[in-house]
Amino acid sequence: MMTGDQYRSSLKDGRRIYFRGQRVDDVTTHPTFAQQVDAAAVGYDKIYDPDPNGLSQLMEAPRSIEALRRQTEDEPDLLSGISCTSAMTLLTAADRLDARRPQGADNIRAYVKDIQRRDLRIVECITDAKGDRTLAPAKQADPDAYLRVIERRTDGVVIRGCKLHIAQAPIAHELMVIPTKSMKPDEGDYSIACGVAVDTPGVKIVNAGTLPSDVDRRDYPFADAHFCSHGFVIFDDVFVPNERIFLDGEADLSAAFAHSLGTWTRVRGLARMIDEADIMAGFASLIADANGLEKVAHIREKITDMAIHATVLRALLEAALSNARTLPSGMVAPDELYISTGKWIGASERALMTRHLQDIAGGSLLTAPSRADLDNPETGDLVRKYMVGAAAYDGEYRLKLFHALKDLTVSATGVYRSIASLTAGGGLFAQRVVLRNRYDIGRARRMALESVGMEREG
Ligand SMILES: Cc1cc2nc3c(=O)[nH]c(=O)nc-3n(C[C@H](O)[C@H](O)[C@H](O)COP(=O)(O)OP(=O)(O)OC[C@H]3O[C@@H](n4cnc5c(N)ncnc54)[C@H](O)[C@@H]3O)c2cc1C
Repeated sequence: MMTGDQYRSSLKDGRRIYFRGQRVDDVTTHPTFAQQVDAAAVGYDKIYDPDPNGLSQLMEAPRSIEALRRQTEDEPDLLSGISCTSAMTLLTAADRLDARRPQGADNIRAYVKDIQRRDLRIVECITDAKGDRTLAPAKQADPDAYLRVIERRTDGVVIRGCKLHIAQAPIAHELMVIPTKSMKPDEGDYSIACGVAVDTPGVKIVNAGTLPSDVDRRDYPFADAHFCSHGFVIFDDVFVPNERIFLDGEADLSAAFAHSLGTWTRVRGLARMIDEADIMAGFASLIADANGLEKVAHIREKITDMAIHATVLRALLEAALSNARTLPSGMVAPDELYISTGKWIGASERALMTRHLQDIAGGSLLTAPSRADLDNPETGDLVRKYMVGAAAYDGEYRLKLFHALKDLTVSATGVYRSIASLTAGGGLFAQRVVLRNRYDIGRARRMALESVGMEREG
């Protein structure tokens, strides 16, 4: 396994990363990316095992509910979490490929084993550019709107296209490339799943960041602690050797990957939503105290709403883990009905929880002076004095709370988090589709009839 420092060195491989119009020569020293690299390096050190023959346990398929729970709840760092989700997605899909495309399933298992042996990190490349949303891939004006195979050779394929929004790609080693949806029989060229190393010729990653570079980072504590880059991962005619191809041409199997990813990415997303719901409830209680409002009835009700929200999400995650199912390979996967329900409630109610928090905090959430104004001898003591709410708390403490709340709810990071909760892992509608498919409506109909003594429908 790699230490944090070995991981840092492994990223100096000539990868083509771009940010705000410039090529980034070294992500480990670039002011925007270094912070993410450091967070991932801490994760490496946290789980480092010096055994030279060891395999990274990070991507070991869970074989029991307890192992699944540990995997979901213990995340050494964000990149490790994404890597684990990617590996679980591939291994789940392998089970579905076994009967029809055994070579693809074997390639997946060998690929994941190799990643474990070399202790690499993989990110999820699923969302295509998609062009006109109402048109199928083969009907788009630009045939590259969905990633596709443009050439087949005896030793592999050449792919072209772009995956959008991809989290943490500049600091990972591998790209898990999978179809974004179910493909039709005439869309064999779009039915491609494979593993591509980030430094492969033809791969370019163009990133977006949330925080402007000229701000005082102390005023943006969330952005600073939790920055995550998102990028266009462009595959500009990239060669993929046969052993890294998991699916090529079998349109009817294309949905297996997106389906598997949905389950694994949402379970992790739900676990993180619970943390965030608790943090929001915690901040609501802290700022209510600092404002002297903790005993006011409507404030207490709002904090209670936030506690109920966090508890419902936690209960749904618990239900998803307790009702996990065992796949043919022996791998244990979370229950999709509870996961999708939790993810849907978490995303759709987040706006109300944000409203409660902002309502309790008051206007200083938007207008509190900067930490630099505290450093200025001409203004520091005056800002501290007038920032005091309840006398038990000093002005600087209350100012820091306001900065945290602003960053959590309305800064570029706050907006990022609210949109991420709505769309990452599939939009609200995607959660509803899974939920509707998994909910036992037949049983509900029978119960409805039985409850009034009716024996059958019609
Ligand atoms: C912060 C963040 C992180 C992300 N990380 C990753 C990542 O690491 N890897 C990755 O692959 N993706 C990632 N995504 C992408 C995410 O999965 C997509 O944003 C999501 O699937 C929605 O796709 P879209 O953005 O193209 O929106 P669209 O698909 O354009 O959806 C917009 C709206 O249009 C509706 N719609 C779309 N098509 C149709 C149609 N044909 N008929 C009816 N309604 C339709 C949708 O339901 C939705 O309401 C991330 C997104 C965000 C915001």
